[in-house]
Formats: sequence, structure tokens, C-alpha cells
Amino acid sequence: MSDSLLAAAAPTAAPGRISSWSLLLGNRLAAIGFCLLVVLALTALLAPLLPLPDPNATAPAERLQPVLSEGHLLGTDQLGRDMLSRLVWGSRVSMAVGFAATIVAALIGSVIGLVAGYAGGRTDNLVMRGVDMLMAFPYILLALAIVAVLGPGLMNALYAIAVVNIPFFARNVRGVTLALARAEFVDAARLSGKGHLSILATEVLPNVLPVIVITMSTTAGWMILETAGLSFLGLGAQPPQADLGSMLGEGRAQLFTAPHVSIVPGVMIFLIVISLNLLGDGVRDVLDPRLRSGALMRPGPRTEVARNRNRPENRAPDAILNVEGLETGFSHNGQYAPAVKDVSLHLRAGECLGLIGESGSGKSVTALSVMGLVNSPPGLIRNGAIYLNGEDVLAMPEAKLISCRGSRVAYIFQDPLTTLHPMHPIGRQIEEAIAAHQRLDRKHLRERSIALLERVGIPEAAERARHYPHQLSGGQRQRVGIAMALANDPDVIVADEPTTALDVTVQAQILDLLRELQEERGVALLFITHDFGVVSEICDRVAVMKDGRVVETGETKELLSNPQHDYTKRLIACVPEIGQGREFLSRVAPLFRPESRS
Ligand code: ADP
Ligand code: MG
Repeated sequence: MSDSLLAAAAPTAAPGRISSWSLLLGNRLAAIGFCLLVVLALTALLAPLLPLPDPNATAPAERLQPVLSEGHLLGTDQLGRDMLSRLVWGSRVSMAVGFAATIVAALIGSVIGLVAGYAGGRTDNLVMRGVDMLMAFPYILLALAIVAVLGPGLMNALYAIAVVNIPFFARNVRGVTLALARAEFVDAARLSGKGHLSILATEVLPNVLPVIVITMSTTAGWMILETAGLSFLGLGAQPPQADLGSMLGEGRAQLFTAPHVSIVPGVMIFLIVISLNLLGDGVRDVLDPRLRSGALMRPGPRTEVARNRNRPENRAPDAILNVEGLETGFSHNGQYAPAVKDVSLHLRAGECLGLIGESGSGKSVTALSVMGLVNSPPGLIRNGAIYLNGEDVLAMPEAKLISCRGSRVAYIFQDPLTTLHPMHPIGRQIEEAIAAHQRLDRKHLRERSIALLERVGIPEAAERARHYPHQLSGGQRQRVGIAMALANDPDVIVADEPTTALDVTVQAQILDLLRELQEERGVALLFITHDFGVVSEICDRVAVMKDGRVVETGETKELLSNPQHDYTKRLIACVPEIGQGREFLSRVAPLFRPESRS
């Protein structure tokens, strides 16, 4: 099952976002497809009300009149029947059969997929092997075989087309259901005493619905083509009834003497199918929340920087990394809002600077801005400069900036389970990090990665290098993350809450390791955390962030003993000491009540 289907299965609508409609109509091709389809469908629907001659009335005297002849806008066919009338009535039949087949296939296929995916195990196996058997035949052949058994006729063509399309729905829906059936919210529903049927209908189905709609919109055009194909072969609509396929088939004999008889229905089939496909692609983009949040765009390789940014001087030329007056924000629906404002920090070689603040205060946005890693869109660096060894990162050419990532500035993230690739052994991933910047042969790559694993304290490194991330403990995974950050001997390491996901004893070990490595290699460390206890362990200096701004900076010892800003005092008060018990909570909780906030 593909990722995009899974993503599409996630709930989509959220307040404040662009509505699906405006997003769909903002996609020009989809809008064209939608308008075209509405016009065609309305014409077909209103056929009985339109002033059209009887589509089946023959007039041998007026055979094969050309297009634009008097009384017959699109000419007549070999029996003198009016082509315009036959076209409108024929489109009506073709579309009705195509859409009906789509609905039947979607209904049956989705039920099969839901049941198989939800039940799992033997039921799943049995049902899906049946579906596989259907898929094993070329499906036009299968449709032909079904019609051959049932006998020619429009209804039988409809059944045949619906049957051969069931597997597409069954497979797509089953894949998404399989993942959903093991999700926590389904477990919760089960524990709350809901029955299987009600879980399927109220918990799973709403999440699968986007997938069903996407599959419908992308296969409807195909089904209309198949209907036309069967009628063309004489297995669908029977004379004198018109449908687009049978009109095409009858016109074949006159292809050279009166080409309009086959070209007119041919163009109609083309228009219907192209409008459906354009609309289908648009619907898929809109229902995929990932495509949606980026307004149908993928983030670029670096954060966008405003051209007219205010670019302050480098006031700390001796620092290895100096962030000056940084303002990074996000635009949504054309509205820009800053997330961090006027942030200035500097970091000297071998120094550890702590960046501390509550969740949402802008620490990660600051850290990611350093190497242009904030996603754009929606991210934008509006103001400021970032000097790495005196050179402004924001003015660097793209290739140079990318080559600096990992080699001069490396990152350690909070949750290594999401940053490590689940399908590759950890040794390979470290080798990959080295190979991104250094030309080494396989043997040396292996030796280096094992040496790194040993250095960060993974026992039996040679053996462990072959293990996958899920075979390691949380602490070990974070050690692998640190090894990857060290792989190219960077000057600066940015560690974004590297110990937040770990328990206290492992946290202490990782902090020890980081401090040791920092002293041994002389790297500068920008250490992000929300915990003053951790800061006092490892940092030389601290910057305190609140609501996107740095409110206080200073030497750790001084700042801890004599905090100036109210907010810093409160953060320090949050570090519990053993033996305080209840008193701790009663002391801290009032500090963070809304009315006590500045
Ligand atoms: P933290 O200090 O917990 O690391 P962040 O730096 O991640 O906080 O977030 C700072 C602010 O930026 C938050 O208000 C958050 O909502 C906002 N923000 C972060 N990423 C995005 C994004 N992709 N789009 C919009 N706003 C974002
Ligand atoms: Mg963060």
C-alpha cells in the first residue's frame, strides 16, 4: 500500500484551512475538467427537454449529410438519423452505464476491502486470493468472457465492467483498512464495547472514504471507455439504441466516405474521459492532506529567504556560529506570521550553548533555520543573518549550503526512531552519512562506521552495525544518531531535545557522552532543551526563549544563581529536587497559571 493512500486516509478537514472547493478550483486543469464535465453531464441529463429530433427516426433520403447541413448541425448517419440527437442521447447512455458501473464496483469492492482488511488473517487471505484471481486475467478479455456468458446487452456490459473493476477498489481499500484496523483509536472503540459492524461503519469507513472517492474519480473515465469498447464490439447497446461506442462502431464502415459519423462520437468520448481524468487528478491532490497543506507544492531544498531582508553585521567575528536578528515565520493562505523574532545567539568553538524555553517557544524553528531546513513553503526567513565562520549561510549558493549540512553543522533530533530509516541496518546508515561528504571505499566506510559506533558506546559494534533501528533500545538509537552527527567531524552540532524522549538514567548517560565528545573533539554544541536541570549539567552559557524571542542570555552559573527575567525564574523553579514531594507541585503550578504569565 502506498504512503499517499495512507496519508489520504487521515482525516482531512481542519478549521482555518483553505476549503476543498477553492483548492480544487484553484487547480486550473481540474477546474477545466470540472466545468467541461458539468456541461456534458447537464446536456445528457436534459436530453428529453432539448428540442432534438427522435434519435432513432430513420430518413433514407437524407443519408450521410455532412456537418452543418440544414436541419442537422452535426449531419446524419448512414440511416439518415440526426447525429446531434444521437450524440446527446448516446452520451446519456454511456455516462449512465459508466457511472453506474463505477458505483457498483466501488460499493462491492470497498465492502470486500473493508472486511478483508479489518478481519485480517485467514479471511483476508481467502478473499484477497480470490481478488488476485480476478486480476490475473487481462480485464478486457475477462469483460468479454462475462458478456459472452450473460449475452450481449447494455445491462450485461454494465455488470461485466463493474466486476472487472472490483479488484482495484478491493485492493486499495484493504491496504488502508489493514493499517487502520490496528490503530489505537480502533482499539479504543473496541474496548468501549462497540461491535465490529459499528466500528467498521463509524471508525474505519470515514477514514477510508477519501481513498474510495479518489479511486472512483480516477477510474470512472476508464469505465466509460470500457463501456464504449464493449458497445463498439456490438456487445453493449443493441440497435437502434445509441451509445457512444455503438455509434463509433457503426461509423467505422463509413470512415473514408463520411468520416464525421465516427469522428463525432470519438471526440465526445475523448472529452468525457479527459474531463473525468483532469477532475480525478484534482480530487486526489485535494484529498491528500500532505499535498494540501503545502498548497499542492513540495518544499524546496532550502528555506526561502526574503530578498529585502534586513541583514545585520557580524558582531561576533570570533564566533564559529553567529545568528543575528533572525526572524523566521510561516505563511498560510497568503498571511505571514513570525514564529521567531529578532533572535541573536553566538557560539564559539568548543563551547556549549543551551537554548531553553517551553514547548512552542520557537527553539526548533531557530535551530532548523541555521541550515535552511525549515520547510518552504510555508517557511520564510524574513530578516537576519547566520554567520558560519564569518560567512553568511543565507547568502550561500544552494550547492554550498547543502554540502555544509552534516559536514560543518550536524543535527541530532529528538526521536531517532523517526529520523533513522527503518529498512536499513544502522551501520549502513552511518556509512551513508560518511559517504555523502567523503570518498572512501566500502572497507574504509565500514571501519569508520564501526569505530564511530564503538566511540558512542555501542557494545559489540561490528555485530550491532548489522542490526535494524527497531532492534535497538531508545538510548542506543540516540547513540546512533550522535554517531551519525559525528560522522564528518562537524564544527557545530545542533542537538534538538536529544534526551527528551529518554528516561532519566539513559538521559544522564547520553549527556555524559555528549560532554565527553564535545571536550575530546572541540565541537561547538547548540543544545536545545526545556529542562534547566539538563542545562546546568552540560551548558557553558544559556539563552532563554519565550514566545519566539530570546529574553535572557548569560553564563549558566550566573543565570542560575541570579536570573533577571521573570520567566527564567519560573523555569528554574520547575527543576524538582529530591524530597520536595507535594510541595514542589504546589510551588510550580501557580507560576504557570494564565493570570501569572507576563
Ligand atoms: P519548540 O520551541 O517547541 O521547538 P517550534 O520551534 O517547533 O517550538 O515552534 C515554534 C512556533 O512555530 C510554534 O508556534 C509553531 O506552531 C510554529 N510552527 C512550527 N512549524 C510550523 C509550520 N510548519 N507551519 C506553521 N507554524 C509552524
Ligand atoms: Mg521543538
